[in-house]
Amino acid sequence: MIFFAAIPPLASQGTPPNPPPAQTNPAPLADTAALSREALVWLAQLIQINTTNPPGNEAAAAKYVAGILEKEGITPEILEVAPGRSAVVARLRSSAISDPSRALLLVAHMDVVGAERSRWSVDPFGAVMKDGYMYGRGALDDKSMLAANLATIIALKRASARLNRDVIFLATDDEEAGGEASIKTLIAKNWDKFAAGYALNEGGEVIAKNGKVQYVAVQASEKVAVNVAVIAKGPAGHASIPSKDNAVVHLAAAVAKIGAYQAPVRFTTVGRRYFEGLATVSDDEIAKWMRSLETADRGEHAQRVLSETNPEWGSMMRDTIAPTMLSGGVRPNVIPGEARAMLNIRLLPGDTIDVLVGALNKLVNDPQIRLEIQPNAGLAAPTSSLESDFYGVITKVASQDFGGAPVLPYQSPWATDSSQLRLHNVQAYGLWPFPVTDEDLKRMHGDDERLSVASFNKGIAVLLHIVSDFAITK
Ligand SMILES: [Zn+2]
Repeated sequence: MIFFAAIPPLASQGTPPNPPPAQTNPAPLADTAALSREALVWLAQLIQINTTNPPGNEAAAAKYVAGILEKEGITPEILEVAPGRSAVVARLRSSAISDPSRALLLVAHMDVVGAERSRWSVDPFGAVMKDGYMYGRGALDDKSMLAANLATIIALKRASARLNRDVIFLATDDEEAGGEASIKTLIAKNWDKFAAGYALNEGGEVIAKNGKVQYVAVQASEKVAVNVAVIAKGPAGHASIPSKDNAVVHLAAAVAKIGAYQAPVRFTTVGRRYFEGLATVSDDEIAKWMRSLETADRGEHAQRVLSETNPEWGSMMRDTIAPTMLSGGVRPNVIPGEARAMLNIRLLPGDTIDVLVGALNKLVNDPQIRLEIQPNAGLAAPTSSLESDFYGVITKVASQDFGGAPVLPYQSPWATDSSQLRLHNVQAYGLWPFPVTDEDLKRMHGDDERLSVASFNKGIAVLLHIVSDFAITK
């Protein structure tokens, strides 16, 4: 791995040959090698604390994180969100009176998704080092970010950095299930403890190929998840005398139609800028179609080519619908009066579920079928600004530290804690700063999740560089 190749050392950032006495970017900040070795130990120990959600048990991880902060003289506060489930918050102050509108929040979640042990080549909670990689559930999502955030706030503290805004560390729980103990509850109960104008969270990626960073995707918005039930009704009866209005048959036909449906294409500002940027690093054939996405004569074909080449690209240009559950029937010889399917829908920011459900009703066109929007739908959050000072710093530093790679705004198909923050007027961005290959990225939520140590170290250096540029008085 040669991710180190293009990093300008932090110490060289704007340091004149004879630093004046007022220079406040102190030497310790530049030495991330020693810090990264410590952070690797934190990452390993965090992986060993099993926070599979459900049930989460993040209280154990919270205690561990709080202990590290305490040792550094940073006062942590453990916030109990539900029994056994806690978050941790800590703050470095810029002045006696905080200005939340300026504050920078560093967010990472402590819980992980489950691991199917028999499918892994190592113990998923063993934090095994192999061939330069740290293996374990959470090595990517999101304990590496948690350890990097810890390293960042600790580096600032050790260097007694003179801050121009408060830097707040927040470790959350229940991100993966997004349930009752998630950030929504945390915000409702404790917003005053971590209110901020800006946030950096997971959700964006640094994509590498053959040891070189191809592009950096900074998440500025996310799609909105809504579940819709498809309910088929029909007369119940004995299976020995079938009828045409069998609910199971009507449900199957409706699901087949919905499954084949593609919502119309719409480009958000973020989506448009993403494809424009990606075209600059894609091979000629694909780039050609990326540049034709909105042309009158070739747009439709371009959209189809890209959607088929990469389903994620398809999901960035339209609302998507995935049937995910089926239920109906009580015994083999009884025609049930009702059968149900569940659709997991991801709306583009700005689209409304009623419009899409209207289109699906028309498509299904069956009086025996009813579509029912389920409660607890995701809330559409405003897109974070692509013109903010913080977005400017992230793009400048990421491009510089990753050898001039293009930095693109990104609209993730999945949800993160950032949408809740955006709903509270936070300019939240997702950048998981570790260079990874597409192949390694697929292990996230999958088997043999891993992160190379070189990539971990590089991510810490970049994160610290971003935060230093934004929060240290020059
Ligand atoms: Zn995550």
